[in-house]
Amino acid sequence: MERWLQQVWYGGRPAPWLLRPLAMLFGLLVSLRRWAFAAGLLPTRHPGCPVIVVGNLTVGGTGKTPLTIWLVQALQQLGLRPGVVLRGHGGSLARLPAPTRVTAGQTAAETGDEALLIAGRTGCAVAVGRDRVAAARLLRQQGVQLVLADDGLQHLRLARDLELVVIDGERGFGNGWLLPAGPLREPLSRLQQVPLRVQNGGERLWCSDALRMQVGGEQLCRVDGQGAAEPLAAWRGREVHAVAAIGNPQRFFDLLTAAGLSIRPHVWPDHHPFSAADLAFADALPVLMTEKDAVKCRAYAQAHHWTLPVEARFEAGEGRRLLGRVLMEARLLDLLVCPLCKGPLIYDKSAAELLCRADRLAFPIRDGIPVMLEEEARAVAADDPRLER
Ligand code: ZN
Repeated sequence: MERWLQQVWYGGRPAPWLLRPLAMLFGLLVSLRRWAFAAGLLPTRHPGCPVIVVGNLTVGGTGKTPLTIWLVQALQQLGLRPGVVLRGHGGSLARLPAPTRVTAGQTAAETGDEALLIAGRTGCAVAVGRDRVAAARLLRQQGVQLVLADDGLQHLRLARDLELVVIDGERGFGNGWLLPAGPLREPLSRLQQVPLRVQNGGERLWCSDALRMQVGGEQLCRVDGQGAAEPLAAWRGREVHAVAAIGNPQRFFDLLTAAGLSIRPHVWPDHHPFSAADLAFADALPVLMTEKDAVKCRAYAQAHHWTLPVEARFEAGEGRRLLGRVLMEARLLDLLVCPLCKGPLIYDKSAAELLCRADRLAFPIRDGIPVMLEEEARAVAADDPRLER
C-alpha cells in the first residue's frame, strides 16, 4: 500500500480519479481547521517563551531533523538554552496524555527515534508528547529559554513566533495533490505564509527564495559505539547492506552510492521498530543504517553494524543568513546574556551592538548574528548614554 502510494505521489503521473474526491474533502477539512484557529473558535496557546516551528508540507522525511539539530547547535553556541518538542513517533510515550522529558536511560521504543537522536546529538532538553503546548511548558519550567517544535507546522494549537518549512529538493511536492491523492498535508499556498523556507538538496529550486541546504556525512561509526570511526571515502567499492526506515530512504541510498559503495538496499516503513532478526543477513557483509535507525539497534548491535551520522550544511553565508533571521524574527536577542558576567544585555539596534553595563563592553552583531566573544568586544566609555537605558 505504502509503495503504491509513493508511486502515485511521486511517479510523475496525474493523481488517480478515485482519490481526488478524498483529497478535496481533506483540503476542505484542513481549510476549515485553519479558519477555526484564525477566527479564535479553536484556542491557541503560547508556552511563554519563543517558539520556532520546523515543519514541512509533505508527508515523510524532508531533512527536518538535521536542520533542527543544526539550529539547536547554532543557538547553543551563542550561549542560549534551546529545547525541542516533538510528537515522538514510534515511541510508547507519544500515546500518553501528558508530555515526558527525554532522559538518558530511555530507549527509542519509549521516546521514538527522532527524539533520542536529537537529545543524543545536541544534549539539549527534549520533550515528547501529543500535546506540544504542554511539552513546551514542561521544558520552559525546566529552564529552557526557547522551544523548537520539530514537525509542528500543522499543530496549530501551539502558538508560534516563527515558522520554518523544509522542502524536499529531490521530490518536491510530488504530483501537487493533497492527501491521499498526493503527498501534501496542506495546500501549496501555505508555503507563502511561512517566513523561512529551506530546500534540502535537489537541482531545481522549488521556491524562488528558499535557502539551500545539503545533508551529508563523512565518518562511519559503529552502531554499538565501540571502535574508531572510519572515513566513508575509505569504503569506496565495498559491498554493504544498506538499511533505512525513514521517510525518504532513497536519499540515504543515493548518499552511499555517490560515495562509491555498492549497496543492497533494504527499505522498512518510517519509524520501524527493529529487532535483531531484521539485521541478520545470510552473508557477513557490513550493515549500514541511518542514524535514526541506529538509535533503535544499539542494544543488540554487532561489530559489523555501522551508521553514517549526517549534518545539515549551508553554502557560504546562507547558514549565517538563516541564523540571523531566526534570531531577529523570533526575537531571541533579548534572551542573550553577557558571556562574562551572565548579566542582561542592552540591544542597540542602530549600532548593531549588545552592551553589558557591568563589564562596559559592546559585543558586535555581524550579519544579524551576535559575536559573543570577549576578544571581539570593544570597550564602552563609562559615560556612554546607551548604558543608562
Ligand atoms: Zn557582563
